[in-house]
Amino acid sequence: MFINSNEGIESISLRNLGFVNHLFSNRYFGIDFKEYNFIRNNFEIPETTYEKLAKLNFRVDNLVFSKQIHGDEIIAIDKVDIKKIRGTEADAIITKETNIPIVIFTTDCVPIFLADKEKKIVAAVHAGWRGTALKIASKVVKKMSDYFGSSPSNIIAAIGPSIGVCCYEVQQELGEFFLLKMSNEKFYIDLKEENKKQLIESGVLEENIHESFICTQCNHDFYSYRRDGANTGRQINIIQIKE
Ligand SMILES: [Zn+2]
Repeated sequence: MFINSNEGIESISLRNLGFVNHLFSNRYFGIDFKEYNFIRNNFEIPETTYEKLAKLNFRVDNLVFSKQIHGDEIIAIDKVDIKKIRGTEADAIITKETNIPIVIFTTDCVPIFLADKEKKIVAAVHAGWRGTALKIASKVVKKMSDYFGSSPSNIIAAIGPSIGVCCYEVQQELGEFFLLKMSNEKFYIDLKEENKKQLIESGVLEENIHESFICTQCNHDFYSYRRDGANTGRQINIIQIKE
């Protein structure tokens, strides 16, 4: 279950953990194309974005994001090197530190938050079809276990708004990686479902996986690359462990 706000949606299960502050933003709270380009070129967040995130109690001075490249690199961060992370190529970030907001930008790709309720560790994952084919969600769970000692059964997962199976038409070749759904001789992938499957295979309990059914292409409150074209803005997906 998710709650709607002016800014986007929040997972009730993540909120109920008590130690996590998070948001899957809508387009109005997201960044427009110009701001997104600024971020990509400077590895710096525009001042206006900082201000609005600060109002939601995110510690923007410590904010961390990577250069997303549709790969399977994962960074684990601590307080020592947060500034160095910016510009690093990676599609998932894990931290156990308080007051370090981690951000993933998306349009149609799947944003996933993971939170270990016992060890109080969080992760943010960016999974488009390439990342999903590379099993990035599984790899993040494994890294949480290997590196931080998480037990997958303690992980709560929230899968945010992304392009739905209703709209995500693909070439038949992607059948190499995914279960394709056929409709009117066309092929579709359910990216959210594929990621959910990976999480379950990695030991996350199905009842602990919460999926938003918002399709970014159908729902105009969200940016969609497929609908709006290359010059579209981005949703801000942000999660932070509270002090
Ligand atoms: Zn749709």
